[in-house]
Amino acid sequence: MTTLDDLPLRDDLVGKTPYGAPQKHVPVALNVNENTHPVPEAVAHDIVARVAAAILTVNRYPDREFTGLRESLADYLGHGLTRDNLWAANGSNEVLQQVLQAFGGPGRSVLGFAPTYSMYSLLADGTGTDWIAGERDADYVLSPETAVAAVRRARPNIVILCSPNNPTGTPLSLETIEAVYDATRYEGSAGIVVVDEAYAEFAPIGTPSALSLLDGRPRLIVSRTMSKAFAFAGARVGYLAADPAVTDALRLVRLPYHLSALTQAAAVAALAHSDEMLAMVDDIRGQRDRIVRELTTLGYTAHRSWSNFVLFGGVDDPHAMFEALLERGILIRDIGIPGHLRVTAGTEAETTAFLEAVASLRASGS
Ligand code: PMP
Repeated sequence: MTTLDDLPLRDDLVGKTPYGAPQKHVPVALNVNENTHPVPEAVAHDIVARVAAAILTVNRYPDREFTGLRESLADYLGHGLTRDNLWAANGSNEVLQQVLQAFGGPGRSVLGFAPTYSMYSLLADGTGTDWIAGERDADYVLSPETAVAAVRRARPNIVILCSPNNPTGTPLSLETIEAVYDATRYEGSAGIVVVDEAYAEFAPIGTPSALSLLDGRPRLIVSRTMSKAFAFAGARVGYLAADPAVTDALRLVRLPYHLSALTQAAAVAALAHSDEMLAMVDDIRGQRDRIVRELTTLGYTAHRSWSNFVLFGGVDDPHAMFEALLERGILIRDIGIPGHLRVTAGTEAETTAFLEAVASLRASGS
């Protein structure tokens, strides 16, 4: 049988492992931070109608500039943004990959602060960019001082700040972002600062976004996704807001027509119903806070979270607990932090199933 070792793979990819969150069909899937509430049916009908209209002209390539989608996204984000500030791709993973293709690459580096979203280092690998893992302060907080010290040491071409951070849920202050932006102005060159706000909608109402910092900061990029709060993970739509010069740079690396006409139609339709699409966010925040409360009562250390998931510690044997929950039809995530597991806030029923299973495992001493 042919194996990878038999193929002339790029040297720098030898021995690497792909992204591998398990995809299992279980009754309660709380492992990849999806919105576990389905798209409301009335909205689904409208989306289908617009996709049906789009399919009639699918013999033609789609609008390469996805103008309508960029306008809808600008309207959704507000902050005085226009379509020229917006860019989109098939999930924010692809958006981030394009950023690394344009601003990273061989001989360049990207700095992130571990533990953080596991795709960052994989995207660095895929684009031949050096991945540098900076450290965090106590309880996974990233202070301006710690972040700036890492930037000064590494002088990276790109910094990715995850706000709130996955897998810890930790909020990030605008002060840290501003300080990192200023620190990435080097003698004779400068770095790009990406703030990944994939979970921004789950932060407390009124929390300022890094979008409010874009004006006057042409090297700042704020990345977002429709996969989480918007309940649109299967449609694959991520986007960013930045200076129009940044989108010009991304045009150099994107594949022509990368966003299908069907994706564009579906996303525009969903954005026309953003209130209904986002209706479950409050409920999810409530379930998240309930998980933190109840896990704490059960004796775990549940970390503060501004996202739709909770990282909890105090687990003697994460692998055993993961398997015991799986046996009960509940899939959560072992993200490789010793003594910790991560769980997505689900519907009330899913969250109850998870918490009851944890309580019964606790009671049985396993
Ligand atoms: N950023 C973060 C922090 C994430 O957790 C995820 C998904 N887990 C993504 C980006 C990518 O999401 P998508 O490609 O679905 O937009």
